[in-house]
Amino acid sequence: MSPDDPPQLPFAPLEAPAPFSVEVVRSPKRRKTVQARLEGETLRLMIPARLSQAEERRWVEEMTERFRRTVQSQAVDLDLRAASLARRHDLPTPASIRWVDNQQHRWGSCTPSIGAIRLSRRLAAYPPWVVDYVIVHELAHLVETNHSPAFHALEARYPRAERAIGFLLAKGWGEEQG
Ligand SMILES: [Zn+2]
Repeated sequence: MSPDDPPQLPFAPLEAPAPFSVEVVRSPKRRKTVQARLEGETLRLMIPARLSQAEERRWVEEMTERFRRTVQSQAVDLDLRAASLARRHDLPTPASIRWVDNQQHRWGSCTPSIGAIRLSRRLAAYPPWVVDYVIVHELAHLVETNHSPAFHALEARYPRAERAIGFLLAKGWGEEQG
């Protein structure tokens, strides 16, 4: 391993801190629901007045995480990334690629018939070279729909594929989850 190699497992924390501060407002009028709104650089959290400190902490953590992912994913130009990765690795360019919030257990999915790729927004918190791997994985599905040896040869065109798979496994994603 040369000094230029990226660090091996275990990884240092890679998630950037939230790009906003959090303000909690306890409202006696709220009974059950928690509402969160990003106003400029402040995430305003409206919670029922009766919530315990522990519950408040849990909501602050959850909402901070959720909004951080949204802000980070909005900063990524997926079309541009996919087009450049497709060019570099001689793979098809997708007709569409977008973040989705309803894929909690798959890092991404692909509908080859219409050239559509969807990525779980959870990935937005990961380093760019991991997101790039997942994009290449889904681009390869535009050619090979299943995880055949031919498919793996395509995805191996991305030089950090193996390292990215290791990263995703460490985060709890299986190798065949997309
Ligand atoms: Zn796959």
